[in-house]
Amino acid sequence: MPATANVVKRGGRRGRRTAAMVRIARERVLALFALAEREAAGGHDELADRYVVLARKIGTRYNVRFLPEYRELYCRSCSTFWVEGRTVRTRLRAGRRVRTCLRCGRRRRLPVREPSLLPGRGPEVGRSAEAMEDVVLADAPSEEEPTDRADDDEPQEN
Ligand SMILES: [Zn+2]
Repeated sequence: MPATANVVKRGGRRGRRTAAMVRIARERVLALFALAEREAAGGHDELADRYVVLARKIGTRYNVRFLPEYRELYCRSCSTFWVEGRTVRTRLRAGRRVRTCLRCGRRRRLPVREPSLLPGRGPEVGRSAEAMEDVVLADAPSEEEPTDRADDDEPQEN
């Protein structure tokens, strides 16, 4: 029995990934996502999904991690390229963004804000709108109100 019988065949998908290979893989992933986007825009969903599958295979094979913005573009379960309203539905629920894949039903829960934008806490626009409403409601009391009402929770004029 030849010694080579049990030796796993080299080349192809096995073996060391050189820096040049990884660079090319990265370029191909970018190109495939660009193609997927274009095909999805043209209504060719099957092609878009196919490009996502290929990009993910390359990513897996060459240890190329996708950029965060790319990870938002497809379903991790069925590799469907996500087009808002057509292949994915996004809802806000309990302060989270819930994205439901319309092909397989898998849900992803994401923070409403991008992590990089997190430091600012709470929407200031909403608060000021609320304050404006208070001003309008407080406008009603007349000048003849007795002074013993001054201790009420209602904000006084000025
Ligand atoms: Zn899916």
